[in-house]
Amino acid sequence: MSVAVTIESVEKRFQNFPALRGVSLDIQPGELVALLGPSGSGKTTLLRVIAGLEQAERGRVLFGDIDTRDLSLRDRRIGFVFQHYALFKTMTVGENVAFGLKSRPRGERPEPAEIRRRVAELLELIQLPGLEKRYPSQLSGGQRQRVALARALAIEPRVLLLDEPFGALDAKVRKELRAWLRQLHQRTGHTTVFVTHDQEEALELADRVAILSDGRLEQVGSPDDVYDHPATPFVCEFLGDANHLPVKVVGSQAFFLDRPVLGGLTQNQGGPASLYVRPQHLRIVDDAPLALPGVVEHLRRNGPLRRAEVAVEGLPKRLDVDLASQVAPAIGERVRLRITHGSLFAAA
Ligand code: ATP
Repeated sequence: MSVAVTIESVEKRFQNFPALRGVSLDIQPGELVALLGPSGSGKTTLLRVIAGLEQAERGRVLFGDIDTRDLSLRDRRIGFVFQHYALFKTMTVGENVAFGLKSRPRGERPEPAEIRRRVAELLELIQLPGLEKRYPSQLSGGQRQRVALARALAIEPRVLLLDEPFGALDAKVRKELRAWLRQLHQRTGHTTVFVTHDQEEALELADRVAILSDGRLEQVGSPDDVYDHPATPFVCEFLGDANHLPVKVVGSQAFFLDRPVLGGLTQNQGGPASLYVRPQHLRIVDDAPLALPGVVEHLRRNGPLRRAEVAVEGLPKRLDVDLASQVAPAIGERVRLRITHGSLFAAA
């Protein structure tokens, strides 16, 4: 049932504003892709183009090898879930989930008993069995979004499109629903496009993450790929904290103020470059051939980790260093930092 979705050079303008500037993306059948980007980057517009709710001026979207322009909205068989509960308030949970099935044209509409069976099955699937008779107002926010998902799944969609489905929920419920959606996806295997501006959500949930900025696709890759090997400084900074050092590349080494700080470089052009290093890729070491000397100026907590802020001569901004299980240094202590991984970009 799941299809491949091919997005080819899609361009979309609103009045004169280019919301999508030539986006191409291949989504495999059964894949869960997160569209990630800041507000206004074009995520929702791309989702609506896939759904057929917006027409692209250029480019096209294929489901399998069918151009979606040749499909009516109904024949696209899209399951859509929005951020704000789109459940019908005056209908029970059962009626909401059954809605898509009951709206099918006469010949395709299942018998009432079959619809009841499907609804019960879907409520099992979303782990809310027996709630058919409740009204949306009698459910929690998280439960409502699960019902919205069941309603989208009821029509056996070819493609499932989720627009910030957990965006209105509190952090704890969001986290629970993420894990739940991941498991559900493993069981049902729908081709799924999930819009979010939450980096953590995208990295945790998706098979691949597609990062949008200003209507352009900056990078597409597995969560590890985009996080550890960002293609652009924008991707690097958008996906998480990163320290920035201006360096000079000579041969296979990067130098900060004539001090070699990173070696083993390949395929880099020599000359000035920007080195981005995540706080967890800086380690306090006793001794190392490539190390940056600095002074610990501040210690703080960053979620579950402790973080040291280390001043390095010649750098205007302190470096953030995650301490993981290392013994915390003292404020004022002189330390040496080893860069275990970094991303280099040619200086602008
Ligand atoms: P958010 O995370 O805030 O929802 P987004 O990445 O989903 O943002 P879009 O909603 O796709 O962004 O909007 C992309 C750009 O297109 C924005 O600058 C927005 O103002 C503009 N835009 C979207 N819809 C319309 C419209 N119907 N008319 C005019 N401009 C629009």
